[in-house]
Amino acid sequence: MWPADFWADVGNPLITAALSWGVFEALKDLKAKLGRSPPPARGRRQLAADLRRGIAGDELVLHYQPLANAEDGAVCGFEALVRWNHPTRGMVPPLDFIPLAEETGLIGPLGEWVLRRACAEAALWANPLRIAVNLSPRQLHRPDLPALVLEVLTTTGLAPERLELEITETALFDDFDRALEGLRRLKGLGVRIAMDDFGTGFSSLSTLHSFPFDKLKIDRSFVKAMHVDDRAKAIVRAVLGLGLSLGIPVVAEGVETDEQLQFLKGEGCAELQGFGIGRPAPIDAHGPIIGGPPTARNHSAVAA
Ligand code: C2E
Ligand code: MG
Ligand code: MG
Repeated sequence: MWPADFWADVGNPLITAALSWGVFEALKDLKAKLGRSPPPARGRRQLAADLRRGIAGDELVLHYQPLANAEDGAVCGFEALVRWNHPTRGMVPPLDFIPLAEETGLIGPLGEWVLRRACAEAALWANPLRIAVNLSPRQLHRPDLPALVLEVLTTTGLAPERLELEITETALFDDFDRALEGLRRLKGLGVRIAMDDFGTGFSSLSTLHSFPFDKLKIDRSFVKAMHVDDRAKAIVRAVLGLGLSLGIPVVAEGVETDEQLQFLKGEGCAELQGFGIGRPAPIDAHGPIIGGPPTARNHSAVAA
């Protein structure tokens, strides 16, 4: 982990100058995300025990955030985002428990639950939109992941091309060759592989060179800064150009304003995601888009 005084230096002008703009912004974002001090060891043990019980006890829920075609605004898919409906803490956001799940190995059952639930849900939609599922680094390194994905696709009847697996560059840090082999095997199943939070990693270009990603998602820190910082705008333009040259569709994350939307559309961005398009919500809130009223859907089929 980072040394205790590391974060104190994020914002120091010398440190800022030594870092690329993108890395600096990513660190600031990470600092904000990790701002809450971690609970003490006993608290963490309790939280881990709670999480173990919560996964088995049906306390996890999925919210779905729409992605739209930039060209005509039509929704083309959803990203499944997990939340933990804790009996006393209320709805816990993923960044408060995914890292703990990674550390404790609970990411195995948690990730499997998310994958199974999202695929089973999407298989019911009258409108065959894509469904995106996030994979954490530890999940990607599991040698049995391709077998699990195949089993879930077979069991749920979801067409492989409708499933998009999102990974971040951090998933490739540990053992690049092994992670790449995992990605190749997944792609061999016919599922799509997207690079999430693009631009916040440390080796984006070599990663792109090494694997034929089906999609790049520009991190929302760049989209957010685009209209107040010319360098952010230049980076967004450059990533869109890179995607165009490589033939990889680019999605902009965190689109909130019409100004951002119009700029991205004008620059050839393929898809848009963000509160300006639609917020993450339980699937029933998206009934008209997925086809048919929620009452007509067979809820027991997704209870697995
Ligand atoms: P992500 O995959 O990059 O997901 C996008 C996050 O950005 C979501 O936060 C979403 O609510 C938020 N977001 C989307 N549009 C906007 C916007 O316009 N403005 C702002 N301010 N935020 C926006 P959420 O749901 O809290 O998820 C955070 C992260 O947790 C995700 O980032 C993903 O890395 C992780 N995560 C979520 N669900 C899962 C999961 O099932 N498995 C794994 N391994 N990770 C997950
Ligand atoms: Mg994602
Ligand atoms: Mg993202």
